Amino acid sequence: MARLSDPITILKGIGPARAKQFAALNIFTLEDLICHFPRAYEDRTRLIPIEKLETDQPACFKATVMNTPRTSHIRKGLDLTKVQVADYSGRLNLTFFNNKYAAGQLQYGKEYIFYGAVSGDFIGYSMTNPIFETPDSKPLTTRRVLPVYPLTAGLSNSVVLKAVQEALAICDPPAEILPEELRAKYGILPAERAYYAIHQPTSMQEAELAKKRLIFEEFFVFSAGLALMRASRTQIKTAPYKNTDLSPFYNALPFTLTGAQARAIREISHDLRRGTPMNRLVQGDVGSGKTMVAAAAAYLTVKNGQQAALMAPTEILAEQHYASLSKLLTPLGISVSLLTGSLTPKQKRQTREAIEAGNVDLVIGTHALVADATAFSDLGLVIADEQHRFGVGQRSRLSAKGSDPHLLVMSATPIPRTLALLMYGDLEVSILDELPPGREPVDTFLVDESYRARINAFIRKQTMEGHQCFVVCPAVEENGDLDLKAATVWAETLQKTVFPDLKIALLHGQMKGAEKEAVMSGFAAGNADVLVATTVIEVGVDVPNATLIVIEDADRFGLSQLHQLRGRVGRGQAKSYCILTSHNKNPETNQRMKAFCKTNDGFKIAEEDLRLRGPGDFFGSRQSGLPVFRVANLSLDLQTLKTAQQASVEWIEQCGTAQTPEAEALRNRIGQLFLRAQGTMN
Ligand code: ADP
Ligand code: MG
Repeated sequence: MARLSDPITILKGIGPARAKQFAALNIFTLEDLICHFPRAYEDRTRLIPIEKLETDQPACFKATVMNTPRTSHIRKGLDLTKVQVADYSGRLNLTFFNNKYAAGQLQYGKEYIFYGAVSGDFIGYSMTNPIFETPDSKPLTTRRVLPVYPLTAGLSNSVVLKAVQEALAICDPPAEILPEELRAKYGILPAERAYYAIHQPTSMQEAELAKKRLIFEEFFVFSAGLALMRASRTQIKTAPYKNTDLSPFYNALPFTLTGAQARAIREISHDLRRGTPMNRLVQGDVGSGKTMVAAAAAYLTVKNGQQAALMAPTEILAEQHYASLSKLLTPLGISVSLLTGSLTPKQKRQTREAIEAGNVDLVIGTHALVADATAFSDLGLVIADEQHRFGVGQRSRLSAKGSDPHLLVMSATPIPRTLALLMYGDLEVSILDELPPGREPVDTFLVDESYRARINAFIRKQTMEGHQCFVVCPAVEENGDLDLKAATVWAETLQKTVFPDLKIALLHGQMKGAEKEAVMSGFAAGNADVLVATTVIEVGVDVPNATLIVIEDADRFGLSQLHQLRGRVGRGQAKSYCILTSHNKNPETNQRMKAFCKTNDGFKIAEEDLRLRGPGDFFGSRQSGLPVFRVANLSLDLQTLKTAQQASVEWIEQCGTAQTPEAEALRNRIGQLFLRAQGTMN
């Protein structure tokens, strides 16, 4: 017997060249091969009489060869072999193109099983290039459900199929990890049967059952992993914070907190006094005021003698947080520092020294914060803003810098509940479902190029009233193939030909950190009227005076991304607008964007985006923080996900620490999945 970890080169017919092709599918070991699941099946189980064959519907039938195949050479490179076959119900002419060899194997008077589709023309029905096998042969391509595998250049379905079959013949599939009671309760196939059935099902129903089992297993392992993480954290003891008076903090705020903000702060304060590390997600739509909730948490931490770290996904955002939080917290006796990649080495070193010496209470930064060189004197709280940009890996590396610090995660992407459970199943959740008072919904319009003059007039109107505008373009440089508004070119056009009297600023991701900061803070300070930008402004940037955002070629963006972008306006008291331009004529795309114009509800938009585009696109091309699921499709298999989540919670309660081989195997699998997930997340 071979082992799952053996390389596929131990299989017959797989040498270095083939192995390379398999590597392109991420298949290196027998286990990879056995876990390379079909993407579809062809049902070739039923034999149909010739008279029942339907045009263009591939099917299997059994027939006798009625003459000796005859090949004619039509012209150079074109040979035609013809043969007639018949069953009790009728006759059929078969034609083979350039396939003399295959056709030559058909013997007059013998019976074969064929698979192919008939095509009809004025002479009568015929079939081109059918596949065939003898009735006493092992069913390989006929009389079976044929798996259709994901393929890559040079690898045909039959090569993959054969390799998988061989692997299964010499090696046991992965061990069972689901307890029997659970399988019984949820009608789940045993592992061994599922692995055989997914690759060699005897019926389509069996293939379905096998797939269901493997999807269930994937979700189960992941949810169980999250639940175990949550459970193990509640075992950890930390010194409970003392009850701290928040009124100096409240008094320093320029506004009254919303009910939702106050509630979230109460929940956090309760967590901090509990004596186990906090693990909380604050989820709130753009503009719901998450920063102040984070500030309150930092305040409580510092007043309890520990340090806090706030990690933002971009430098711009880190800088903006630094500006607003140092203004708020410094007068309250809290020392705030900024640590980003664009500081000079000397500045970085000094800041790091101050952090390590405990002279800094709150550090705000980007990924630089997780760099090894940063050490804290006593890190009590880690805040991750816009969490989905970080992987679980980064989250945990930052946590490792303290001894089990409290964790607060803030997400502005309203995540559909099912996905939230997957991504944050190890966290408790506070929801900011209330916007600060006086906010009106942003009016959104979808227009085409014929509105250009009116868009420009509207930009002018807003700036005349003293407001500012964003113009978002999907690309930085002009791109020959796609007629997208490149930010650089568009900024120049607007400045030179449309608004020579206004100040147009440009911001894009290819600019240096310091440059970006200068542009962004300049815009926030009112130094420019219009900011032309790529999606770097998507996350969190706060300019309350901006009242209009024009999103060019909006059909290029996902709905959730559009929602994030739209959230850049409507942050002050004045009425705000969002204009989407698109010359895409696709009715579905248009319907999607029209639906977006009608609602400001981020959760609704997120659900719709998940349904339309799946979770990968949902989070943009950036890492989603989700593991790679091999069988499961998050948008299609939601029901199974819910069942698996429920089952995993039950399992942990009943036998999470059981010493059975299954429980052991499950824990191993969880470990593997999280390793793999982290690999793709950092
Ligand atoms: P987000 O949840 O998108 O991170 P922010 O924390 O950036 O939102 O807050 C958005 C804007 O609303 C900021 O200008 C902030 O100062 C302001 N703000 C936050 N809370 C309140 C409140 N309770 N009342 C009025 N304005 C608020
Ligand atoms: Mg924010």
